[in-house]
Amino acid sequence: MLDRRNFLKLAAALSTAFGISNLPAPVQAALKKINPATLPKIIYLQGMSCTGCSISLLQANAPSPAALITEYSQLAFHADLSATSGKQSLNLINAFISGKAGEYILALEGSIPDQMPEACVIGDKPLAKYLEEAARTMTAAVAVGTCACDGGIPAAEGNPTGAIGLREFYKRRNIDKLVVNIRGCSVHPDWVWHTIVHLVKVGLPELTDGGSPKLFYAKKVHEQCPRYHDFQQEIFARNLGEKGCLFKLGCLGPDTYADCPTRWWNSGQNWCVDANAPCIGCASPNFARQKRIPFYRLAEAATQKI
Ligand code: SF4
Ligand code: SF4
Repeated sequence: MLDRRNFLKLAAALSTAFGISNLPAPVQAALKKINPATLPKIIYLQGMSCTGCSISLLQANAPSPAALITEYSQLAFHADLSATSGKQSLNLINAFISGKAGEYILALEGSIPDQMPEACVIGDKPLAKYLEEAARTMTAAVAVGTCACDGGIPAAEGNPTGAIGLREFYKRRNIDKLVVNIRGCSVHPDWVWHTIVHLVKVGLPELTDGGSPKLFYAKKVHEQCPRYHDFQQEIFARNLGEKGCLFKLGCLGPDTYADCPTRWWNSGQNWCVDANAPCIGCASPNFARQKRIPFYRLAEAATQKI
């Protein structure tokens, strides 16, 4: 008979093996109906980011990244993936941001240096100016990754740039615009692609209080974790690499909302806790904000909230 841990492993492996069936039902239906003439156009800008989220997006599986940006959407601009560069890129970005190129979704990766606009410039204009203008023309925005949602690592205590996420950026300017937060450092490709297709073809997915789709962020990592039984039985790992609940090694699964235990990463190969590494709370709004809470810490600090 399968125990809970092995059952969850088997379920995740099966859903990955079947590829598209891993998508939420409304998204599956939408993908089948997509008409190439009405593909959603995406402008993907980067603020203060390490490009890790872009790299993660390229790990998409079933549909592949190439299909996602050609058959299921039109990636009109991305600094790393677009064939255009220099003036041509700027003209393209400006055509969309000014509203002349039609409807589009803005995807932003990375945080915004609100107290140091010159720290993030595209062409000769601060990113902040593009974002202010885009609020008047875009259909909606998707904040890709914890940095774009909440500031993330660039907003760590002591940073001089005043790094913030997109929602806060608009709030400070009294701009009321839909921003869907896809947290994670880096993001899971499913979380982003499925949200974009849902937005365009199905409508706004139901959001959590933190502005993230409930499809992926409704439950805590802890309550879906295959080691939850160990937690209840107080079977704790004392060293990295050991079996047992990782709470005493600082696991932040109890404070983090994400579906990693059932979705898994790298096309269903594994995820943090099954790799014997504590959840470091990368999908939490408070990720990496406080110096006193490092990613990995000793047992006595484990009960601190992030
Ligand atoms: S504390 Fe971490 S390892 Fe333990 S059950 Fe919760 S999420 Fe899993
Ligand atoms: S388990 Fe935690 S640290 Fe790992 S990817 Fe998910 S939210 Fe991030």
